Amino acid sequence: MTDFAATRALFDLPDGIAYLDGNSLGPLARAVPDRVARTMTREWGGDLIGAWNSAGWMDWPERLGDRIAPLIGAAPGTVTLGDTLSIKVHQALAAALSLTDRRVILSDTGNFPTDLYMAQGLVRTLDAGHALRVVAPEEVESHLSDDIAVLLLTEVDYRTGRRHDMARLGDRARRNGIITVWDLAHSAGALPVDVTACGADFAVGCTYKYLNSGPGGPAFLHVGPQIAHRIDPALPGWLGHAAPFDFDPQYRPAAAAKRFRIGTPPVLQMAALDAALDVWDIASIHDVRARSVDLSRRLIDGVGAACPALVLASPGDDAARGSQVSFRHPQGYAIMQALIADGVIGDFRAPDILRFGITPLYIGLAEIDRCVETLARIMDRGLWDDPAFRRRQAVT
Ligand SMILES: *Cc1c(COP(=O)(O)O)cnc(C)c1O
Repeated sequence: MTDFAATRALFDLPDGIAYLDGNSLGPLARAVPDRVARTMTREWGGDLIGAWNSAGWMDWPERLGDRIAPLIGAAPGTVTLGDTLSIKVHQALAAALSLTDRRVILSDTGNFPTDLYMAQGLVRTLDAGHALRVVAPEEVESHLSDDIAVLLLTEVDYRTGRRHDMARLGDRARRNGIITVWDLAHSAGALPVDVTACGADFAVGCTYKYLNSGPGGPAFLHVGPQIAHRIDPALPGWLGHAAPFDFDPQYRPAAAAKRFRIGTPPVLQMAALDAALDVWDIASIHDVRARSVDLSRRLIDGVGAACPALVLASPGDDAARGSQVSFRHPQGYAIMQALIADGVIGDFRAPDILRFGITPLYIGLAEIDRCVETLARIMDRGLWDDPAFRRRQAVT
């Protein structure tokens, strides 16, 4: 059984804050600053360019990919790291389209904008009769017809926390000859995923949310071993070449997932990720999920009882929800600012969603109860109704 007091002790959270936004930016793990400092001073400072070999930097994208793999049910050697998630979505989608003669990408209205933009961009640049079909989340299954090339979905909706049934949709897709690209931005480190059992062709995700790598941390990409060798990457970078240091003018893909590398990996960010992943040496993703469900239920029940004006925007059914809880209110922005001013940090998503990330590695009952009590006070006394809280910032 995971000792959550021990996992929490690995994080460095400011005093007096209830941090319910780890679904957007995970907090600093205590081991990160020293680890990054070591990479800077001893490896970079000491070994200069030699550190690519002496510190093994060149192999980190796959070494760290292998540390993430068990959290998403991927086999070793099938996950690589680098770039941002937007780019990994583009790479996976372009690769998926290259494997089929079909032309339609199916996605849903709950998907994150960048994923849809990448699909729109590919449709435009391929200029070969491709189309993006976007349907309501509940209608995805009935649209898995045999003209669909690729199913592009984010497992957990960033606004509502609604969770797709990956196994069921993956099975339906496979039986219809549809290639699957799963975005696990709100899944990896939040709940158990089994890309192998779900037959996922591609899975991508970011590391700065539930995996706590820090702002701008690299994204990951998993490619199913059954198809990796058939892919000629659309962004064929020199470090995805079979022999990068031959400097061959002709591209030849590296083995398996490694061909999805593009250019020089972000070494300092990877050092931070490596240290942040140590928590998984003492935490089980299954225990994290069980605790997340308990904490989510407590928040839903507490807010339901104390704040009748806040409408639950997340599924009430635990199995249909990821690791966040969202509520709607027309004054959601101002309410969230009032909450943050009181030390309870969640976030707001337009037009009216108050969002709370549930991250048992470092939050527990005390944070949930404080959130409920503070929200109740703000709602009862109308404390949100203040010009300072109504003013929108660019990033909130
Ligand atoms: C957070 C998130 C992103 C962010 O993409 P970046 O390129 O890392 O900024 C993309 N897609 C989904 C589904 C997300 O939740």
